[in-house]
Amino acid sequence: MASSSYSNSPCAACKFLRRKCMPDCIFAPYFPPEEPQKFANVHKIFGASNVSKLLNEVPPHQREDAVNSLAYEAEARMKDPVYGCVGAISVLQRQVMRLQRELDATNADLIRYACNEMPPAASGQYGRRSGHGSGGGGGGAGSYNQNSSGFYYPSHQWNSNNGDNESSGGGSM
Ligand SMILES: [Zn+2]
Repeated sequence: MASSSYSNSPCAACKFLRRKCMPDCIFAPYFPPEEPQKFANVHKIFGASNVSKLLNEVPPHQREDAVNSLAYEAEARMKDPVYGCVGAISVLQRQVMRLQRELDATNADLIRYACNEMPPAASGQYGRRSGHGSGGGGGGAGSYNQNSSGFYYPSHQWNSNNGDNESSGGGSM
């Protein structure tokens, strides 16, 4: 993709290392001259020879992903010398756990509304009973009664007793 500049100027790696960029340069496809910082970061954290070795061990179709991963890790390590990208990963993992708890709580609320509106005995013939809803649900009660096939089950596990409307249910959100 950087083929136009490739023939004219050395790649970012060769420029940084002050060497001649050969036509078979392993860095050239992944470190275009327009992004000098990308190689500088990777070189500082991993070392050019380690990057070169790693690229040679990776099949060509995966090299771009490998370089992008190295560049991301190197940048994260420079910003956070202690945790590197692990810092970002653990923040995101905590976020996922918090959102999962939130989702579980909301799903539990939804189940409670469902149980209030129609008894479990009605399984298999989910008619609409929005006429005398409890009203306590506010906007939530209205939204999940819109579905023509009954009402909307937000989670896979609760679809087990009426799996046939899974696709229509998923599309309603
Ligand atoms: Zn080069």
